[in-house]
Amino acid sequence: MNTDKRKVVLIGTGMVGMSFAYSLVNQGGICNELVLIDLNKKRAEGEAMDLNHGLAFAKSNMKIYCGEYSDCKDADIVVIAAGVAQKEGETRLDLLKRNTEVFRSIITPVVKSGFDGIFVVATNPVDIMTRVTFELSRFGASKVIGTGTSLDTARLRYLLGDYFTVDPKNIHAYVIGEHGDSEFVPLSQVMLATKRVTGILDDEKSPYTYEGMARIEEEVRTAAYKIIEAKSATYYGIGIALTRIVKAILGDENSVLTVSAKLSGEYGTKGVFIGVPSIIGRNGVKEIVELELTEDEQEKFLASAAVLNDAFDGLGI
Ligand code: NAD
Repeated sequence: MNTDKRKVVLIGTGMVGMSFAYSLVNQGGICNELVLIDLNKKRAEGEAMDLNHGLAFAKSNMKIYCGEYSDCKDADIVVIAAGVAQKEGETRLDLLKRNTEVFRSIITPVVKSGFDGIFVVATNPVDIMTRVTFELSRFGASKVIGTGTSLDTARLRYLLGDYFTVDPKNIHAYVIGEHGDSEFVPLSQVMLATKRVTGILDDEKSPYTYEGMARIEEEVRTAAYKIIEAKSATYYGIGIALTRIVKAILGDENSVLTVSAKLSGEYGTKGVFIGVPSIIGRNGVKEIVELELTEDEQEKFLASAAVLNDAFDGLGI
């Protein structure tokens, strides 16, 4: 990891990629070099020009340019947001085969450049594309991270904050599992400050209910579908989530984020890349936090892992 210069290469300068780049520029101080790469080179060039023209008004002093795969050589992080966007009615798993071919054309030249940093993947279906990145790159598992359920968790905390009228920062709750239909909220692990929310729900005098929580969980699970129905794609939220992950890595924060990480026996399974709370620092995934799930939650988790394993196995990589 290069410490004096913080260089990020973004591959895929579509809506998600550029929402990330825009957020990176606006938050400032996260990295000082940003390279843009896309199959559509002209688009990447235009995006670099456009962002550069805003730099005079931004907090950060960054070098932004349209580059080549050889620019990955001394990068700290390669962010991948290239691929085909989810269409209305299409499940994330339907995208798999198309995006695997896109990734073959990306990972090979990145690795060939001599890149030795950390991969951060956003392309859907993100858990599988992260595993594909791991397999194709042959990097250590800690250096391959997917955005996982980080955005879903942010949505959950926002909605729970609203429900309990509490600052989301004081709500501790995670969406875990596949970033997709089988994701879920382990309710036994939802905390308001240090108080278990199940205790509040069990109190007959409380206005808060299990039905209310189930509604919120459903809202989180279907949020992407609703946004896609309304505006064809989602990008701002995931762009900010990517920025958060990149900031945690470059700042060696040891922050807990629900990224897609490779399990090695945690939660009773291994091999799968799946959204779990993980400690993220300069070397990527430092540790996976294993929550104490109830039997029912553990079953849901393994069912979600099975969905991902089945889809990955179908690829024959
Ligand atoms: P987009 O179509 O706007 O952008 C995709 C970009 O990838 C395009 O610029 C395209 O030219 C580029 N590209 C395609 N093939 C390439 C290749 N072989 N090499 C380099 N670049 C290539 O799509 P988008 O809306 O930005 O979405 C990108 C991905 O992010 C999709 O897979 C989408 O489903 C996913 N996404 C993930 C999340 C999440 O939570 N992880 C959220 C939203 C979207």
